[in-house]
Amino acid sequence: MQNKTIAIVGRPNVGKSRLFNALVKKRVAIVHDQPGVTRDANTVELAKGLTLVDTGGWGLGKIKGMEKEAVLAVAVEEQVNIAIEAAEKILMVVDGRMGATSLDEQIARKLRPYKDKVTLIINKIDQSDTKFDEGDFLRMGFTSWQVVSAEHDRGIEGLRNTLLKLAPKIEKTEKKKDGEDKGEEPAKEKRPMLTIVGRPNVGKSSLVNALLKQNKVIVSPISGTTRDPVAIDLDFEGKKGTVYKFKLVDTAGLRHRTKVGSSVEVFSQMRTRESIEKADVCILIVDALDGVTSQDKMLAGEIQKLGKTLVVAVNKWDLAAERFEGENKIEGFETLQDFEAECRNNIESTLFFTAGAPIIFISAQKQTNLEKLLKETAKLEAQQDEMFSTPEVNKLLSKLLWKNSPRNATGKFFKIYYATQTGKRPYYFRLFCNQQEGVNDSFRRYLARGFAEHFECGGVPFFFHFVSKPEPKWKEAKGEGKKTYSKSTDPKRNGVEKKKGHEARSR
Ligand code: GDP
Repeated sequence: MQNKTIAIVGRPNVGKSRLFNALVKKRVAIVHDQPGVTRDANTVELAKGLTLVDTGGWGLGKIKGMEKEAVLAVAVEEQVNIAIEAAEKILMVVDGRMGATSLDEQIARKLRPYKDKVTLIINKIDQSDTKFDEGDFLRMGFTSWQVVSAEHDRGIEGLRNTLLKLAPKIEKTEKKKDGEDKGEEPAKEKRPMLTIVGRPNVGKSSLVNALLKQNKVIVSPISGTTRDPVAIDLDFEGKKGTVYKFKLVDTAGLRHRTKVGSSVEVFSQMRTRESIEKADVCILIVDALDGVTSQDKMLAGEIQKLGKTLVVAVNKWDLAAERFEGENKIEGFETLQDFEAECRNNIESTLFFTAGAPIIFISAQKQTNLEKLLKETAKLEAQQDEMFSTPEVNKLLSKLLWKNSPRNATGKFFKIYYATQTGKRPYYFRLFCNQQEGVNDSFRRYLARGFAEHFECGGVPFFFHFVSKPEPKWKEAKGEGKKTYSKSTDPKRNGVEKKKGHEARSR
């Protein structure tokens, strides 16, 4: 499902907030537009995946050495710019009784090239006989227009119904396939691909074998072609009868290999990237006693770069536990719990770029915690399909921005006005902001961590595409800034992920 945005734009005091309130039937916006008063973007979901946003507060704020009037002109310009970029539909509000002002004309001029998505809202026409100069507004050049009174609820119902038609169609995931009722063979169920990666000797084969011991499906060796890693159906039966279904991507010969360092080992390493690319979720195994090595870090980085969900399994935990049973404790730790906490810290700080991936302590050999590992994996696998509501995303964004203002690569502060999710598997977000240069990585990570914590999906990668506008006119005139768009560091833009019909394509 695609998220769509309807933006309300217009100069102050034309009734944008009133219109917003009337359309959502709730008094959630501040009603009086006060130039110079900044407020959060008002966003509300009119229907699933259809967000109405009042741009009224965007871009308003003090700008050193600028007159109030000029600030206002810049703010309105920014609002319109972002609306053009972010919205499928723009409602340009004018004050019907006052007639068109020069600021109205300025906005109309900017919007005219996008007139197909603009509806002119002639507001404050409280009664059917309220006089206004139609021609004044029609000269603005928009073919779609509507006369309303937000205050008196005139024409609002009709406008709302028109807007609701823009709501994205809900995907019917459980829709029956043609012919299913006619006794024909049902469609094959889709199993998520699970790839187990790790450096040599951490226990990949042992884990695969341990998982297969609890497999409901009898595994017969499937010969893969030389290009494709072998995939095995895993129906892991948990303690309470829950069955975890995956397609286990087994790099060639993994289950049968015995000797580390053989040519098969080298061969399987070469295929690691290939199997990560195929995966829906990756389990990265690290060794409990060795901790995270540079090779582990490299693998985690590869998983992240390819936009795949990560679960970390700390294997050979039985060996760590044994040490605390006898005299030979691991140096520096009193209890196994202390050691576990340190392991977590170490993984979190070394793999700082993976935004809170789950860490599960297992023993492939003793078959402990395997169900927990699969449970977490299955949970994240399902979460990858979520599309978050735009108002919730924006509320979270304001909270995160409040705590930590964004800076670009050169250390300059910039503003982010609005965000919307544009894709899933992995998650993609477009963030509309006022800056021109690249956003630094630590800020991207800060956002990813905040999002992962809030939506409880640590391990699923988040990609942020910052969209900035051309510099406002007053800056251009001064010769400051370049007309560039911010670079996105996501796998699609690196040409890695090319899913058909993906919504996250940048314009
Ligand atoms: P791979 O190279 O990652 O596939 O690693 P293997 O599965 O071949 O395991 C390497 C070695 O570690 C073997 O000797 C395994 O028996 C041992 N091993 C694997 N998992 C565990 C575990 O959970 N506990 C213990 N004690 N040894 C393990």
